[in-house]
Amino acid sequence: VLRKAVLEAAHLRSLSRARGGEDRLRLDQSLRRALKTLRVAYQPIVSCATRETIGFEALMRSTEPALTTPAAVIDAAEKLGLLHTLGRRVRNIVAAQIEDAPRATAIFVNLHPSDLADPDLFDPASPLSRVARQVVLELTERASLEAVPDLELRFESLRALGYRLAVDDLGAGYAGLSYFARVQPEIVKVDMSLVRGVDADVVRQRVVHSLVSLATGLGMEVVAEGIETAAERDCVVRLGCTYVQGYALARPGPAFPSITWP
Ligand code: C2E
Ligand code: MG
Ligand code: MG
Ligand code: MG
Repeated sequence: VLRKAVLEAAHLRSLSRARGGEDRLRLDQSLRRALKTLRVAYQPIVSCATRETIGFEALMRSTEPALTTPAAVIDAAEKLGLLHTLGRRVRNIVAAQIEDAPRATAIFVNLHPSDLADPDLFDPASPLSRVARQVVLELTERASLEAVPDLELRFESLRALGYRLAVDDLGAGYAGLSYFARVQPEIVKVDMSLVRGVDADVVRQRVVHSLVSLATGLGMEVVAEGIETAAERDCVVRLGCTYVQGYALARPGPAFPSITWP
């Protein structure tokens, strides 16, 4: 009886391994299709002072059924070791479309921490590097950069290519002030969790105001992201944010939906 149970258990294990392999194959096929048909949507970033569009955030869009959100695509690419392929794909699409962007606007491109280990990002001959002066690279504060060796050197190289740098999702992560010292970004983006309902929440107002003071004191510009209402927009303008981005101004769309807010 024991022997039979052991054999059955082994059989079940090999079945589930086979199923795992099948899942992996299916995910691999989905991701490869998603990479082929990947598009980029652009969401306007608007100046609080002039109310004009100063830039656009590039956001990947996939119509592959199992991989409809950026998080799902990134997760699959991570599992299958294709993060660099994904990053290059987005950067090459942006590079091909950037000539259609209105003059004097910047394109904000999200990086995954692993992109900082991709030689293509640092190649002066890569398509995006050729237009680096028009590009702001966003690094999320959510992810740890502890594991990235020679981080300061890498940022220096990116700046030498002409890129500007932004810290994304400020206030949502755990990096704190040491992050600023390491990245010294030109721009910071206040996370939408601090923006949501800010007009009716004195504590959020104080936090945003403090972040704005800190950032502008260090010579950085501040984007408030995830603005969904006119009240949130007017509030972050009062609190000193330089730029606003969110559904209240414009949703991400095909290249390039420039707007002026009413
Ligand atoms: P993120 O970089 O913080 O981008 C902002 C996200 O908020 C986008 O979601 C955008 O569509 C959404 N958003 C903009 N305005 C509003 C608003 O008013 N309300 C709400 N509720 N949401 C708003 P999306 O496109 O789904 O992207 C989610 C995240 O996936 C991004 O967050 C970014 O971390 C990552 N991501 C997107 N595209 C790329 C990419 O090309 N490369 C990399 N590495 N990451 C990307
Ligand atoms: Mg971003
Ligand atoms: Mg982000
Ligand atoms: Mg963000």
